[in-house]
Amino acid sequence: MALVSACVMVLLLAAAGYGGERPVVVLDPGHGGEDVGVTGSYGSREKDVALALALELRRQLGLSCDVRLTRESDSTLSVMRRVELANSFHGDLLVSLHAGGGLSRDANRIALFVQQEPKGRATDPGRDNGWDGGHRPHISESQALATMLERPLALLDGYEGVDYSAVPLGIARGAGMPVVLLEVGNLTNPREEGRLESPEHLRRVAAAVAAGIDAYLLR
Ligand SMILES: [Zn+2]
Repeated sequence: MALVSACVMVLLLAAAGYGGERPVVVLDPGHGGEDVGVTGSYGSREKDVALALALELRRQLGLSCDVRLTRESDSTLSVMRRVELANSFHGDLLVSLHAGGGLSRDANRIALFVQQEPKGRATDPGRDNGWDGGHRPHISESQALATMLERPLALLDGYEGVDYSAVPLGIARGAGMPVVLLEVGNLTNPREEGRLESPEHLRRVAAAVAAGIDAYLLR
């Protein structure tokens, strides 16, 4: 069966009189400007890989999804500003894109991160006003989004696997939507650095991310 994008599906339903608006997908290219992120041994910079991947993803999803980027150029942006922008876009979801380092030069994995559940009972005073900054109601949806992203990413050739962790996540703090931070490989691995510079490889990675986003939106 041909894969129909979730965004196309929403448009078809809208055209048929079922209502509905285009999902707003916010992409956050990690780092930027003065914040270079990880630099590979051949000089590739994480901020450039993250932006190239975001632009390719926008191309793949953008025909029918409303895709917004927190940055479209090599600009410096605080984490708080990224969250403010995502909230101002009224995003249905936020994916922050990175290509950082591994503990060894051979590291070659994909990693997904979501905000961890705050400690304490739901009735504790101030629980939602603490470090999670009001993101708590969206944590279970973030986990669902990560699960949907994990499946197509695990099918990509050349990676050892996909890790999935719940951690204190700055980009989720205060975000009124599901948030996943995605590391699409390790620039600290020279072999992986070469692949991340390849537009063809980035197209394949973007297609997997787009498939995960589609699957999440179509649930
Ligand atoms: Zn990073």
